[in-house]
Amino acid sequence: MLHYSCDLCQRPIDPHVGLRHVVKISVFPAVEGEPDERCDGDDVGACDDHLENMHDLLERMEEQDLAAFLDDGTRSLRFDLCEGCRQRFLRNPLGAKPNKSFSFSQN
Ligand SMILES: [Zn+2]
Repeated sequence: MLHYSCDLCQRPIDPHVGLRHVVKISVFPAVEGEPDERCDGDDVGACDDHLENMHDLLERMEEQDLAAFLDDGTRSLRFDLCEGCRQRFLRNPLGAKPNKSFSFSQN
């Protein structure tokens, strides 16, 4: 039997007692504009050139460079939360500190 525990409070989540809630977070770079737009319409040649250049570039890259090149910061995160942590999470999804407690220490 699969055993789940809350990723926040580490408590086991018993499906008979409480619901298990899944949080999925996708982080990816927002691409402004439409870079592929020029590939539409009659100007197909420009699109082919672009793809060929990209292919050459990828071939010339070392493996670790390629990995860094392909890593655009996209991440998919998945968490299991118990009911209590689900409510806490929804109140403050990013874990930001409330403004009123924001202060510099006066040392
Ligand atoms: Zn929890």
